[in-house]
Amino acid sequence: MSSLPSSASEPAGGVATGTMSPMAAGTGLPLKTGEGAQPVAPGIWLLHGQGQSFVAETSAGLVVVDAGPGGKVTAGMIEALRRCSDAPVHALCYSHGHAGYNAGVPQWLEHARERGEPAPRLIAHRNVPRRYARYRETQALQQHLNEMQFRMPPGSFAMRLHEPEETFDRHLVIGEGEQRVELMWAPSETDCCIAVWCPAQRVLYGGPAVIDSIPNIGTPLRTLRDPVRWADTLEDLLALNPEQVVREFGPTIVGAQAVREVLGRTTLALRWLRTETVRLMNEGLGEREILARIRYPEDLFGPEWMRPTYGDRSYIVRDIYRSENGWWDRNPTSLHPAPPEDVARALGEAIADKAAVLAQARRHAEGGRLQLALHVIDLLALAEGEAPEFAEARRLKAGWLRERAPQVQTYISKSLYHHGAARLEAQANAARPAANPDGKRGALPDASASAGHS
Ligand SMILES: [Zn+2]
Repeated sequence: MSSLPSSASEPAGGVATGTMSPMAAGTGLPLKTGEGAQPVAPGIWLLHGQGQSFVAETSAGLVVVDAGPGGKVTAGMIEALRRCSDAPVHALCYSHGHAGYNAGVPQWLEHARERGEPAPRLIAHRNVPRRYARYRETQALQQHLNEMQFRMPPGSFAMRLHEPEETFDRHLVIGEGEQRVELMWAPSETDCCIAVWCPAQRVLYGGPAVIDSIPNIGTPLRTLRDPVRWADTLEDLLALNPEQVVREFGPTIVGAQAVREVLGRTTLALRWLRTETVRLMNEGLGEREILARIRYPEDLFGPEWMRPTYGDRSYIVRDIYRSENGWWDRNPTSLHPAPPEDVARALGEAIADKAAVLAQARRHAEGGRLQLALHVIDLLALAEGEAPEFAEARRLKAGWLRERAPQVQTYISKSLYHHGAARLEAQANAARPAANPDGKRGALPDASASAGHS
């Protein structure tokens, strides 16, 4: 597929490149990859929806992986598919259970009804229903997390889950002989990811296991993901010796050599992260010390498909650390902390020369050391009390968070910097309702009313 313009996902001054764009320009939809259908091989297409959906013609009918996020996007996918094939849809398969990828199932069911055809089978890995149950249990939390991650206005994320009707464990074949596809469990981003193998054309749909960005492990708001399991999956997929690999995001990998290069080197990078993080943990280092010490080899992390446009290699290190350590940050103060409001008040009372703290933080910011400026300003920005320096500290912090966002490549860190700034700005506006002449403070750089990825 061609590169997407990604400017819509960026606040002014930001840089985002490539196809792993969390927002398609102009759509306002997180993770929409474009429009229309794209032929991959005879009887195989990819459809642009939330990520890239996959369609293969089998002797049983069409197998479609991912119904899309619903609404106009799914309607466009159905329309695009019908320009390619008139065959009935035999099965809708879930690439994985993240929100939004299959919110559009009812529209496909309606489409089959209108054509007088039987309802498609709804097939997912057996871990999808368990994930959906967890999402229902934690619905308000999921809403909050997704709104932060995807820069959506509070209250705008709607979790629409459509339960699959049929699940499988490791392997499921649809169709017969040359006209069959094989669904395979491909645990990677989640424990419910699948891949689809079309043996006749030697085409593999890699699902979330294969994206043109560093593997999405360890993002700040998500549960633990295992890089070693992801590497094992990539090796299993590589063993099929595909001629083409269709990714969930990004251009199709064409040619056995390129497939070996991309999947093979990604595997090596994930295994290296595990080995190196474990080595540093064994030396007795804590999480932040490891982040400061680790040096990432260019041959593993330099390739285009490893760019940290969505996730980040430091996120992966943190997840590996988390998988072998408890929650404690190794500062005894944090073991049994005082209530946050007491700490905030005590901090405010403790800092006698507040102006000196502000001045020192400003010096760091002016010297280009924004991260240090943030650490210093937190002495006052987290404090509570009447002193005007506290409000000034929060105003400075909000501005520095906005400046910090374009300094990092990962979409998720950018989102969280902007989210933090917006909260501080909203707090300031609430304290001074008349002092908001431009109405701009508190704005998020992107707002969307659609469901998200994780
Ligand atoms: Zn996902």
